[in-house]
Amino acid sequence: MTEKKQEQNRAGKQKPTRGQPNTGRAERRAEKRAAASARPHGKNAPERNPGNGKRQAGGKGALDKSRRGNRTAVAAGIRNPQTGADEKRARRAHGAAIDVRVKPGDGTLRVIPLGGLGEIGKNMTAIEYGEDIVVIDCGLAFPDEDMPGVDLVIPDVSYLVKNQARVRGILLTHGHEDHIGAIPYVLQQLRVPVYGTRLTVGIVKNKLEEFSLPYEPKLYTVEAGDVIRLGGMKAEFIHVNHSIADACCIALHTPAGIVFHTGDFKLDVSPIDGKMIDLVRIGQLGAEGVLLLLCESTNAERAGFTPSERTVGLSLDRIFMENRDKRLIIATFSSNVHRVQQIINASAKYGRRVAVAGRSMVNVIGAAVDLGYMTVPDGVLIDPADVKRFKPEQVTVVTTGSQGEPMSALYRMAFSEHNQIKLTPSDLVILSASAIPGNEKLVGKIINALVRAGIHVVNDAVADVHVSGHACREELKMMIGLVKPKYFMPVHGEERHLYANKGLAEFMGIPSQNVFVSTELGQVLEIDRKGARFKGAVPAGKVLVDGAGVGDVGSVVLRDRKLLAQDGLIVVVATVDPQDQEIVSGPEIVSRGFVYVRDNEEMLDQAKKVAYDAINRALDAGGCDWTAMKTAVKEKLSKFLYEATGRSPMILPVILSL
Ligand SMILES: [Zn+2]
Ligand SMILES: [Zn+2]
Repeated sequence: MTEKKQEQNRAGKQKPTRGQPNTGRAERRAEKRAAASARPHGKNAPERNPGNGKRQAGGKGALDKSRRGNRTAVAAGIRNPQTGADEKRARRAHGAAIDVRVKPGDGTLRVIPLGGLGEIGKNMTAIEYGEDIVVIDCGLAFPDEDMPGVDLVIPDVSYLVKNQARVRGILLTHGHEDHIGAIPYVLQQLRVPVYGTRLTVGIVKNKLEEFSLPYEPKLYTVEAGDVIRLGGMKAEFIHVNHSIADACCIALHTPAGIVFHTGDFKLDVSPIDGKMIDLVRIGQLGAEGVLLLLCESTNAERAGFTPSERTVGLSLDRIFMENRDKRLIIATFSSNVHRVQQIINASAKYGRRVAVAGRSMVNVIGAAVDLGYMTVPDGVLIDPADVKRFKPEQVTVVTTGSQGEPMSALYRMAFSEHNQIKLTPSDLVILSASAIPGNEKLVGKIINALVRAGIHVVNDAVADVHVSGHACREELKMMIGLVKPKYFMPVHGEERHLYANKGLAEFMGIPSQNVFVSTELGQVLEIDRKGARFKGAVPAGKVLVDGAGVGDVGSVVLRDRKLLAQDGLIVVVATVDPQDQEIVSGPEIVSRGFVYVRDNEEMLDQAKKVAYDAINRALDAGGCDWTAMKTAVKEKLSKFLYEATGRSPMILPVILSL
């Protein structure tokens, strides 16, 4: 019996209860799949040793097709960047890396959320068993108002960096920023392979082009249905519906049982690409027995079902029909390939040309067309520069800016700053999106500007021009009911969403002691034969990205920025002769963001006097002690300024030696 089989049997024996057949079967099934596809050309060469280096080095074992014959996922991948020769080399190197691990089999599974709990954004979960760590998703978050100047927030991955040799790979569920956005930063610290579907990897590649990694990252494409080997674990990608094409959930087959991570999902029984969420496979896994379900929580407070993407198409069709005399400007998420496809379809149907505005929209449509996720009839797309050559009623403009982003094409159009497209009251603007929490004001600003200019705006408040990409309560219940996990952990949401999801799990019959809600990143959920519990923690949290700096903006810098933003800055400059212990020039006062200097000359003169006295007194008391002088200036001046103005600017004494 191979080591793996022993592991599986152990896992199987420990298996419980609740009418679930043991998990070992799923493992064996996955094993069989792997073995089947590893056989070259159907030769009957049984796999005796899954840990055998030679087979892995041959490249066949690393990626296994489960249901589509023997073609490996790598071979089916995005072809543009690498020649066949390069690809083979990458696969061999990769196979060897997987292969050398020895599974210790201490029987404890550790689930480590590194992002996405208690927040919307930067989703990342590490799953650890024995010597293997597998990471699911690697997203970013956008900064809060209390992070002035910060561009992005990424997860703290120091635990993974420390354990780099054990990290078998990062699996991406789909191509949204909150799942892939931190990849360029994390790959700078962590040289591990990344797996995702074609569109997901395509978007990651585009992002990586803007960064210069010091090495060629290993990106592998998979298809829904693929099973990949990651040390002693196997990951199975399963198709789901979401607001981006090619989204998957992941069943991670571990020696302790199946960990099922939903990623982001919804149930769309009439999706645009015709591919419904793979409920059959999800149900099979549930029947085989799932140890732990990590389930997204975004819409756990919303009743019912999320409507199909197709309802947006019907709504758009009606708007196109009723507004044949108008130019249509439609803003949506660039990543929502199916939405854009529907806009293109409606435009073609009503004889309109489509101009694409905004860099990310141009990029994504380009990538989606290249990869076959979108079809555009010949002659429909036109350059935004040519919009004015057509009558308004012959044109649809698809644009970025649905979140009110100040540099976006829609923003520039709304404020008459777009040099190719000028809006007039005979245009109709459609916001085919809902504002992500935090963006409402920005979106409102655009709507107000448009309305002020006499332009009619349609948004999801007045028409069905948007549907969510996330499962509402009934869909979450369906997922929980199909997967029937022993343990449940809500992920992907703020506290309120996580607890709402916990309520659903309990409603579905999962005992509350088997539901684990954590809002503390890094807190480890341990599962072994004896049960599940939170135990210990690893470093986790926010790493702030500001310009080229990653992680160099910490709490001290943020506190200073907030202070500066609130009450401004006072710089006090004086020169002291250390020999004679007296002030030889100054103090001069420079202020920024504190008061309007011209109206406050008298007060600032007094402030100079206060600083002068403070330095002199410090000199009298303790000689030429620079720290004492600075402290004295800060103390006296802040008291004086607060009394004079009610403000507490940051005070920066600069005392020079003659
Ligand atoms: Zn998503
Ligand atoms: Zn998400």
